[in-house]
Amino acid sequence: MLTLAEKIILTILVLSTFFLFFFPVIKRVLILARLQAAARFDSILKRFFYAFSRVLLQLCTLKNERPWTGVAHLLIFYGAITFDTMTINHVIEGYVDGFYLFGQSWPGRLFAASVDLFSITVLAGVSFFAVRRFVFRPRAYDTGAGDSALIYIFIFLAVSTFLLFNVFSVALHPGSRTGAFLSRFLAEKFLPATMSVPALERNLKLGYWLHALAVFSFISYVPHSKYFHLLAGPVNLFFRRSRPTGLMLPLNLETAENFGAERATDFSWKDGLDAMACVECGRCQDVCPAFQSGKALSPKMVILNLEKHLLAEYKNIRKDREKLPWLVPGVFTEDEIWACTTCGACLHVCPFDIEHPDKLLSLRQNLVLARGRFPAELRSFFHNLETYGNPWGFPPAHRTELLRELGVGVKTLGEYPEAEYLLWLGCFGTFDDRGRKIAGAMVRIMKAAGLKFAVLGAEERCCGDSARRLGNEYLFQTLALDNMKILAGTSLKGLITFCPHGYNVFKNDYPALLEVLGELSQEEKEKIRSLRVISHLELMTGLVDRKRLPLRKPEETGALSSFTVHDSCYYGRHNELLAEPRKVLRAVLGENLRELKNSKEHTFCCGAGGGLMWTEEKAGKRINHLRSEEIIKNGSRLVATSCPFCLTMLQDGLRDKDADEFRVMDVAEILAGALLNSGHRAERD
Ligand code: SF4
Ligand code: SF4
Repeated sequence: MLTLAEKIILTILVLSTFFLFFFPVIKRVLILARLQAAARFDSILKRFFYAFSRVLLQLCTLKNERPWTGVAHLLIFYGAITFDTMTINHVIEGYVDGFYLFGQSWPGRLFAASVDLFSITVLAGVSFFAVRRFVFRPRAYDTGAGDSALIYIFIFLAVSTFLLFNVFSVALHPGSRTGAFLSRFLAEKFLPATMSVPALERNLKLGYWLHALAVFSFISYVPHSKYFHLLAGPVNLFFRRSRPTGLMLPLNLETAENFGAERATDFSWKDGLDAMACVECGRCQDVCPAFQSGKALSPKMVILNLEKHLLAEYKNIRKDREKLPWLVPGVFTEDEIWACTTCGACLHVCPFDIEHPDKLLSLRQNLVLARGRFPAELRSFFHNLETYGNPWGFPPAHRTELLRELGVGVKTLGEYPEAEYLLWLGCFGTFDDRGRKIAGAMVRIMKAAGLKFAVLGAEERCCGDSARRLGNEYLFQTLALDNMKILAGTSLKGLITFCPHGYNVFKNDYPALLEVLGELSQEEKEKIRSLRVISHLELMTGLVDRKRLPLRKPEETGALSSFTVHDSCYYGRHNELLAEPRKVLRAVLGENLRELKNSKEHTFCCGAGGGLMWTEEKAGKRINHLRSEEIIKNGSRLVATSCPFCLTMLQDGLRDKDADEFRVMDVAEILAGALLNSGHRAERD
């Protein structure tokens, strides 16, 4: 179809497109190569199938936060695959006259029909996005408008010029592309029957070049824009974290060259890839409690600013780390870093599994460990943990004195070395009045089930969760080591927690920490690894399932018009304990569960996670007020929680809202309240 001169021009165009496409790709790969290592090469096949299924079935965008956006993506995605194939055909057709992939066989007819069909769906999808972005203008889309407009125009031009070319092609060669139903219809409807063959040929060539130019411009532009996610997104899904979302990787304090992220090159290549994979959809921002309550933090902007910085500092990243500016305050502000509750909502909704909290925690770590910068109110918190092993600065012996309030006959492990389970009271369960009530309920449940259990008493120290997520890795490791030394010396079957933060830290953080701790022997490490960590939700569900508890029936506990559940981030989202509280509550309260708007894995943080329980919430609205408003709207007067932090925050929030008729109780308290007075079972053998 093309003359020799035209073929040369086409070749130059193809090569220029290659260069324009791959230049930014190579630049980004070179940046990533200079960042820190990250272990993401395990379970390659599993990774492949995960990424493949997420992309091919578009599960990444078909998450239930934005169903219509997901459908529009689906329409465009399959259209893009078909058009990409068509582009290969288009280029070859320029060199080989009459070339058509699959010829006139049935796959060829199907292919021709698909391209026509997808030109309609792609235009529909792009129109949906254009209207959404430029007419409805949701806040989540407050960046990248120029990029989006250009890409919509390129896609529109690529599809319309393809139709133009195809219309003349079927008019000129009626026996070809027999499946192209739309092009044929347009040709019959709009082309004058009298149009001469030379005129058709001229127009065909014009259509050819217009389509080639539109497609090559689109391909060249993609990697220079936020649409780089088309390449980096699937790769990022492949390298997603395989560890639980609640697990923070330990810092080797003895060998680390830098503590946390001080400059760009302190981030890992996976952090860099995360930044390059962002599509700027704003889903993370929409669900972030810090952003919603008016704090300085937007997880989307954290990722975007990191990408901008990596690209801007390309030369220094490659050549001279010392010339790189500090990330704080150059790229990130302290206010945004200290606003994160580590709730994981951002990570959960991100279509490309971008890991926002890790970056914020790494920045916090650097501020605390290397620069001694943290909110003033944390000074006494860190001091108390360091000196007394609890946030309030109570002397350790006070833990034993408070034990008698938990019920008759609660023994320490020293008094009862035959105990099979250790009930970890935690700082709230020991020192906080409300927390002690939950601990008391747990004691009643475990006694009723006949479990052989004990508590640690004066030896127990804070699990270290808050210290760690507030950036004080050194303090965390000190506390963890003390606790681990004690645990390693026991012959327990399991450790039971009624705090999701303790649960997460024992189940996920401690075993990972063992990899870098030199102070423990292999035998001690094995002991800790083999210790089963059991959440009180799992324990109660097991006991209810196996009918190990003498319980009143729901109708005997007094009818409730409805009750609701507030899932904690660390039990619910990070460790997927979602069915358990519902099972226990249904057994005790019946079926009148009325879910909150943001429930289960979409739960909304109470505001206390990430150590923020111990900081002052100065900017914007209080996060617990937002959640309390949601509870008030739901209307259920009984709110079941499973975290002492959440309980405190929601109680305070509801009180501030003058909603005293709402009662917040731990699931354990509700279950213990349904125990028959018939006494405790004898300890089982
Ligand atoms: S972890 Fe929670 S608070 Fe932190 S950035 Fe993500 S959504 Fe926001
Ligand atoms: S980080 Fe993920 S959820 Fe947030 S804007 Fe980027 S792609 Fe969307």
